Amino acid sequence: AAASLADAVTVPASAELFARARRVTPGGVNSPVRAFRSVGGTPRFMVSGSGPRLTDADGRSYVDLVGSWGPMILGHAHPDVLAAVHAAASAGLSFGTPSPGEVALAEEIVARVPAVEQVRLVSSGTEATMSAIRLARGFTGRPLIVKFAGCYHGHVDSLLAAAGSGVATFGLPDSAGVTAATTAEVLVLPYNDLDAVRAAFAAAPGRIAAVITEAVAANMGVVPPAPGFNAGLAEVAHADGALLVSDEVMTGFRLGPAGMYGIDAAREGWSPDLFTFGKVIGGGLPVGAFGGRADVMALLAPDGPVYQAGTLSGNPVATAAGLATLRGLDDAAYARLDATSTAVRILADDALTAAGVPHRVQRVSNLFSIFFCDEPVQDYDAARRQDTAGYAAFFHAMLDAGVYLPPSAFEAWFVSTAHDDKAVDVIAKALPGAARAAAR
Ligand code: PLP
Repeated sequence: AAASLADAVTVPASAELFARARRVTPGGVNSPVRAFRSVGGTPRFMVSGSGPRLTDADGRSYVDLVGSWGPMILGHAHPDVLAAVHAAASAGLSFGTPSPGEVALAEEIVARVPAVEQVRLVSSGTEATMSAIRLARGFTGRPLIVKFAGCYHGHVDSLLAAAGSGVATFGLPDSAGVTAATTAEVLVLPYNDLDAVRAAFAAAPGRIAAVITEAVAANMGVVPPAPGFNAGLAEVAHADGALLVSDEVMTGFRLGPAGMYGIDAAREGWSPDLFTFGKVIGGGLPVGAFGGRADVMALLAPDGPVYQAGTLSGNPVATAAGLATLRGLDDAAYARLDATSTAVRILADDALTAAGVPHRVQRVSNLFSIFFCDEPVQDYDAARRQDTAGYAAFFHAMLDAGVYLPPSAFEAWFVSTAHDDKAVDVIAKALPGAARAAAR
């Protein structure tokens, strides 16, 4: 149904670029959700961004609520980030040696998240989770990993089982090309179900290396951990000698200065053993990181036997962008993110209510999404019961009115500190018509 949704607005330049792209790139995109498959229509090829706005190849301007899927927390082309990138680039693009910027970025991460005693930089969130589970297996000498249905940890073979994000968008149960032997070492459990976790440990005592979870599930739409869920994971894992890996690729440095860790673990006095980061810490350039307990991190090469490396890891230009972004995230920035996300949430909630569209707004801190369904969503099965065709109609009406939402019902909405009253106004004006379109 979604694919038959024609674009109401013609975008000839994007259409031509998409035709060219499809000749040389599978599906015309370098990451599947960008292809608009679940909402239909022509993907917009963006040529520039400034503050809360993106401009496409046809010269149309959009208020952006995707933020490059998280990194652009200060808005597009932030002057401080650009200045840092220009300065770093002028001094050379890559040395393949240690360099000062990566030390400063690691220090900034360690300073903000006390449970991260040591950190290693990589170039994507995928690399971070892949390395973290290798390290957990190396540390414990155990084979199995527990993950949750609907949680996305990047396109690591073993973590693609019942993953969210693009895998949810396309309704793929798993990915072809991942062997049965690989998935046999991963136990996929329902999110927010501690009893299932207890049962898994009871069935395989001493064999589970780690539980990996999104600190807040946000790749099936935003599904907050039930009260005590994350703490319970730590308790159950630790009781069996396993590690808890908290994937904060999306939430890290976004939900607050210490990410979700600062909201639950630090306040409640427990801690994950390892963390993964990405997105915000690169400020729009490719940076990921994993870190945590010093005794676990000590197993990494060159100190220890767990190998991990990268030609561009700690790249000076990328780390400069990340550092400038983190330094822009003071208390005032978080207050602004909260205020903007609250305003957008309330506007969307009101418009959908007025149009009689069943929906649930779910959030943790400034990270939220809207499910087009009538029940609270606590896990992947519930997330998948939403009205994705209704979302597609809503998405296109917003797009035509100049608001760029995630082109999938299974993704979070991202605000930035650059979203001002004018940007919120564009969203406010677009919503009533889009809500009516969703009501159909
Ligand atoms: N983990 C989480 C929670 C994510 O949201 C993502 C990306 O969306 C990843 C890992 C993978 O990060 P990347 O796309 O940088 O490989």
